[in-house]
Amino acid sequence: MSEVGTVENPLRVAIIGAGPSGFYATEHLFKQKGLTIEVDLYDRLPTPFGLVRNGVAPDHQKIKSVTAVFDRTAKKPGFRFFGNVELGKDITVEEMRQYYHALIYTTGAQTDRPMNIPGADLEGHHPATEFVAWYNGHPDFRDYQFDLSQERVAVVGIGNVAMDVARILCRTPEELKQTDIADYALDALSKSNVKEVYVLGRRGPAQAAFTTPEIKEFGEMEDADVFTIPEEVELDPLSEASLSESADRGTQRKVEIIQSYASNQPTGKSRKLIVRFLVSPTELFGDENGRVKAMKIVHNELYKTDAGSLRPKATDKTEVLDVGLVFRSIGYRGVPLPGVPFNDSWGVILNEDGRVINPDTKQPVPGEYTAGWIKRGPSGVIGTNKPDAVASVDLLLTDLRDGNLIAPTTPDAAAIAALIAARQPHYFTYADWQKLDELELANGAAQGRPRLKFTSVAAMIAALGK
Ligand code: NAP
Repeated sequence: MSEVGTVENPLRVAIIGAGPSGFYATEHLFKQKGLTIEVDLYDRLPTPFGLVRNGVAPDHQKIKSVTAVFDRTAKKPGFRFFGNVELGKDITVEEMRQYYHALIYTTGAQTDRPMNIPGADLEGHHPATEFVAWYNGHPDFRDYQFDLSQERVAVVGIGNVAMDVARILCRTPEELKQTDIADYALDALSKSNVKEVYVLGRRGPAQAAFTTPEIKEFGEMEDADVFTIPEEVELDPLSEASLSESADRGTQRKVEIIQSYASNQPTGKSRKLIVRFLVSPTELFGDENGRVKAMKIVHNELYKTDAGSLRPKATDKTEVLDVGLVFRSIGYRGVPLPGVPFNDSWGVILNEDGRVINPDTKQPVPGEYTAGWIKRGPSGVIGTNKPDAVASVDLLLTDLRDGNLIAPTTPDAAAIAALIAARQPHYFTYADWQKLDELELANGAAQGRPRLKFTSVAAMIAALGK
């Protein structure tokens, strides 16, 4: 057999997870000059784009335009999409290794970090990730229930996901109608009784994880006023010193915006967004039916660690917030893939710079790589995954040159397609997705909305008459 990467013997790569990292890895592979490469991109959902479809807030439609770049990648010769195919269920890693020279895992972070406080198991306390997946029409979450009859809600954490959740809770039906939010979520949120949303940060304004456009957007809501509390947004001496030392203009601007909200007065809007700082939940209290009815919070102060970062420390001042619904938004977390080494304490695939590592030998598993959130954890914006995926693919290409990839018994595109078709007759090709996409756009246009999503796999299959 000729060298791998030639017309007679193309380099065959399977990428598992069709979110941004999967597409960025594909794009970088297809950029290689002088190599013939075939990429099969798999996803457990029939639809591609991962968090761009199921995570990015529906009122941030512009961010979703990155899919145009992914569409261009999907047009390259040698590209195939296998949607609705799940690794570990429809096909195993061992089987994949018979058909490909390399595998790249780009499955993102599908769950979240727990909040271990008394009362955390009460009904009415949810991971923000579930609410996000629900309002975005992720098929696994469409039947989840959130009690929007409650008037007061707390969102724990002040990253951009917390901001998304708080904003969506405060949008008017008219604002939501302009988005591609799932139809059942539009309906439920239109009937929502929510009046006050608390967003709770454990550190101060200078350490807020949300970005400036997100906090500015809080001040521009159609029917919600935003407030901060003067004594919580005054910088403490440690934050003051670190901010002036770093001369970080971006953070200074962010702090100014946060501080400006402290003098806001109610303007008669029907909802309130209250961003709190230097507070941590310590307990959830339930009613006689086991439902959240209140949250105890403790006020924090900051101290400097030996490494120089500012961390929160509880004081003896506490407070009780009457809230009937709680979302924790304190970070996503990856889940293990069957047959793939996992670092359980970090919630990522066990890897060194993107090469999957065998936990026993501590050596790379030949031909297996990872990129994106399942490689490095849930940080950064969509574009952050591009250099990350490029770095992993470059290691793959180095290993190709050094002869360190998999030597598959059947490096045959038709053979693996036949196996997938036998295991999952309802698999989706990219052409299938494009038809579904057209239908969603047309159904949306009929209602004056950007898109009306299919939210169940059965409905997607039926829509294509498969
Ligand atoms: P994140 O940015 O890491 O924020 C997590 C937040 O949870 C932080 O405020 C963190 O506080 C807090 N937290 C962690 N443990 C906590 C605890 N035990 N108690 C209280 N608070 C706790 O995570 P994310 O919001 O899930 O976002 C993930 C990534 O996606 C981020 O990079 C984000 O920027 C990105 N994203 C971007 C957009 C956008 O561009 N519009 C939208 C959504 C998400 P500390 O800082 O004190 O640890």
